[in-house]
Amino acid sequence: MRIDAVGLYHVAMPLLRPWRTAYGEDASVESVLVRLWAEGECAWGESTPLAAPCFSAEWAGGVFTLLRDWLAPAIVGCEIDSGQALRRHLAHFKGNPFAKAALDVAWWALHAQRRGEPLHQCLGAVRRPIVVGADFGVTDTIDELLAEIGEAVAAGFPRIKLKFRPGWDLAMLEAVRRAFPDTTLHVDCNAGYRLDDIELLRRLDAFDLAMIEQPLAADALHEHARLQRELNTPVCLDESIDSPDRMRQAIEQGSCRCVNIKPGRVGGLTAALDIHALCRAANIDMWVGGMLESSVGAHACMALAGLDGLTYPPDLFPSDRFYAEDLAEPAVTLTSDDRGRPCVIPPDLPGLGSAPNQRRLERCCVQRTEIRSDRSHRTATPREARQEQSP
Ligand code: MG
Repeated sequence: MRIDAVGLYHVAMPLLRPWRTAYGEDASVESVLVRLWAEGECAWGESTPLAAPCFSAEWAGGVFTLLRDWLAPAIVGCEIDSGQALRRHLAHFKGNPFAKAALDVAWWALHAQRRGEPLHQCLGAVRRPIVVGADFGVTDTIDELLAEIGEAVAAGFPRIKLKFRPGWDLAMLEAVRRAFPDTTLHVDCNAGYRLDDIELLRRLDAFDLAMIEQPLAADALHEHARLQRELNTPVCLDESIDSPDRMRQAIEQGSCRCVNIKPGRVGGLTAALDIHALCRAANIDMWVGGMLESSVGAHACMALAGLDGLTYPPDLFPSDRFYAEDLAEPAVTLTSDDRGRPCVIPPDLPGLGSAPNQRRLERCCVQRTEIRSDRSHRTATPREARQEQSP
């Protein structure tokens, strides 16, 4: 397909309540939406690196700028017939997987739409519906957390993920395990520890956890390998895996037995498919995570989550868990599978099956621009964007 234009929207989506992790606290989720036009059709993609470069080195304002100044101009006017071709077009720009993912997800959405196939089918998914997990950030008190987990267990969620950080660690986990002795649990440390903390991390083996997600720093593949050798519990990498090459290195070093695949963090769906193939060959467990995206980004995760071998329930949330109104439509909702477990059903419509609600997109817009194949682009400054939003 010949890429005619790329529209870019940097948005801030207010959360119902702040999301607390080892990185700090977010009151809104900053995300970048991409609208890709080719030969008279268009589709949407999204990448959600958050407001500050804390989860990774990227951030929403930087991703918007990079897409505007370099990545989008490099593809408009070009014939791009595969996700791999898109990667090759962008390969001379180093790193920046979240920025590249925004274009890649939009490319796949448009490709699926033009083929008249649902995205999940285009990606080769083999499962629908997708049974999902429940995920809990840091709450004000342990009692509050226990009450929330109790509701999730009663609702049939098959596994519980707990944020785990210094000060919200063993005492919290002991209380949860005591209250829920048979529930599948795992902890996500968001790179909050160092190898010096190995005594504390060793004690996690006593809690029969499904995995310990990203205990050490993102660039600590070697240290993760040392830690994995010391632990019975599988180490799951998240922040560390930002490309298929990094996944290959992690496998070679024995850094993990499991990986959380997020399309944004790894550079898009094309890279996610490569990582999926590497992990299948190496017998590494996989599951899909998210970044609190709008329904657009969540639908890309949902399509990926049905691939063969991704059997651990993904972090896919109903929109109303985090947002008063999802920026995009349809909102993500949960239904139940035949065993009463909460699940999502990737839509059986051509393409991604989700697009922004125009009014909400305008309301959440921080800045936007459009790059056309005549190489012109028009940028609305934040002030202009606000004026254009006013009725
Ligand atoms: Mg994580």
